[in-house]
Amino acid sequence: MDAANDIQTSDMYRPVEVAHRVWWVGHHQENDVFQCHVYLIEHGDQSVLIDPGSELTFETTRQKIEEVTPFDNIRWFLCHHQDPDITAALPHIDRLVTRDDAAVISHWRAAALLKHYGLNLPFWLVEKHNWHLDLGGRVLDFYFTPYAHFPGAFVTHDRDTGVLFSSDIFGGFTEGFQLYAQDESYFEALRPFHEHYMPSREILTHVMTKMEQLPITMICPQHGSIIPGHLVQFMIDQLKTLDCGLYLLAEDNTDIQKLSRLNRMLRDITQTMVVYRDFRDIAGALLDIARRVLPVEALEFYSATEEDRVIHFAPETRYRGVMVETPPGQVGRLMEVDVKTWHEETDQPFTKEVCPVPEGDDGPGGEERICLLVPLFTPDEGKAQAVAILRLENDVEAGDDVSEVIDQMSVPLQVAVERESIYRTLDLERQQFYERSIRDPLTGLFTRLYMQDSVQRLFGIHDRDPNAAVGVALFDIDYFKSINDTYGHNEGDEVLKRVARVLMDSARSGDLAVRLGGEEFAVFVVGQSALRIDEAADRIRRQVAAIGFEGALAGRGITVSAGAAVRAPGEGLSDFIQRADEALYEAKSNGRNQVCRAEPAEDHPAGDAEGAE
Ligand code: GH3
Ligand code: MG
Ligand code: MG
Repeated sequence: MDAANDIQTSDMYRPVEVAHRVWWVGHHQENDVFQCHVYLIEHGDQSVLIDPGSELTFETTRQKIEEVTPFDNIRWFLCHHQDPDITAALPHIDRLVTRDDAAVISHWRAAALLKHYGLNLPFWLVEKHNWHLDLGGRVLDFYFTPYAHFPGAFVTHDRDTGVLFSSDIFGGFTEGFQLYAQDESYFEALRPFHEHYMPSREILTHVMTKMEQLPITMICPQHGSIIPGHLVQFMIDQLKTLDCGLYLLAEDNTDIQKLSRLNRMLRDITQTMVVYRDFRDIAGALLDIARRVLPVEALEFYSATEEDRVIHFAPETRYRGVMVETPPGQVGRLMEVDVKTWHEETDQPFTKEVCPVPEGDDGPGGEERICLLVPLFTPDEGKAQAVAILRLENDVEAGDDVSEVIDQMSVPLQVAVERESIYRTLDLERQQFYERSIRDPLTGLFTRLYMQDSVQRLFGIHDRDPNAAVGVALFDIDYFKSINDTYGHNEGDEVLKRVARVLMDSARSGDLAVRLGGEEFAVFVVGQSALRIDEAADRIRRQVAAIGFEGALAGRGITVSAGAAVRAPGEGLSDFIQRADEALYEAKSNGRNQVCRAEPAEDHPAGDAEGAE
């Protein structure tokens, strides 16, 4: 960058070495957006002058050449095409040249015109010499770029430096003189030049695809600024899809005009989806694109998932994707329509309606906007999987062209929304799966899996601090099998839920109420109350017995038996549970509906814990 800046400020009345032994020897013309460049490859007595210039510039060019090398060292006068801005100096040159072996390098289609200068210099035709020239230690390759913009146009690539002398291609219109392009914004100089000088997008794309194959380190065009290496690929990418020439000659609203606008929008939409990963960025870019044809204020989407749920993507929620129970009426209606009926009944890809602005992070919503609602059909012709809503700043007459643009946009939009909705669904499923592994879906109690994990943490604390005691009460519903057998499984589930509710309500923060499996539960209690776990268990037992059931179970009393144990420091989970389970067994054998307290752990006399009370 520093080197480039140096040259910006260097004396434009001197030759500038832009690459190894490659010199800019052009002439800066005041107040002309159409600067013409001349380059010199200094290679001893085999030097090459590239696109020599015009009557207006040649005298300065000649002086600059003399600063680099004696004029007579130039053997080759390379003309990429026949235009006067680069070739009108040939008659002067013809008079200046004294050596016998000098020649004009060109293509036969240009030579056919250049011969009208009546030169003594002979032509050396690129196509007759296998498209390259060996200067002796330095090889120039020529590449045919027909119709860009001249039928016989070609470019020159210097193998030695990787410089591409690109002729009119990569030319630019520049306000003021800038020898080097600075950044991507320079493309705006290339755009009008190519729009006017390149005959059609096909021709330009063809050329760009060819140029992309070359190892280019710098582009030296005839017009505009020199393009440094780091901008080369960017400019190629931009030019590859530029609508130019023929496409722009079309008057407003001709098919070709519409087609090229549509093409640009579709390309931009596709590119948006390729470039951005985040749906919020995609939505932002799509909004910009939509604004080219309509005064769109915001874009929102509703998308149906496979589980018949609907995800809402709106700017108010930063396109996070929020599950909604029921989409707004109009959206729900559109999601019911299938593509055939839609096309039979509507001649436009959207309906215009008044929509409320949804409530969100930024405000309470409640306002109303005129909206275009676009059903987004899947390509397999089913029902609309999603609906796009374009909130308008003001009402508009959405004519045929808008309707065509929206129609064409709807498939890529559908893909973008569907993709995001799949991601969101997966993410929600992942969350649910995670939740499920923590919470038992029937009762909402913690699972055994989660218990095993978190109880270890409680034990760790207890082992470091004997006051952080841990107690457990195991519960088993009495004669539960007969409930299932008598009232059915559903009523059995109802009992499980009611019992679980009691456990959950009795658990204080820090306690852990767990469904171990079937109709067996556990409550872990921490701190001083853990020492009186049997009392807590008995309270729960009484509360369960007091549950008043309704419906089929009305009048039926449910009881639980429980075994309670206080953990000895250092005691492992299975030993701990084992002791509580033995107490539970005892409660069952003693007639059920009661709590038994476990014996203190053998290896860990409970004296410690009880002494603390
Ligand atoms: P006891 O007083 O000895 O505990 O007798 P019980 O009938 O409760 O005996 P058991 O533990 O053998 O019976 C447990 C029953 O719990 C068996 C099984 O069908 C039922 N069960 C396990 N999980 C569920 C469940 O999720 N829902 C329902 N409704 N029943 C379940
Ligand atoms: Mg059981
Ligand atoms: Mg039981």
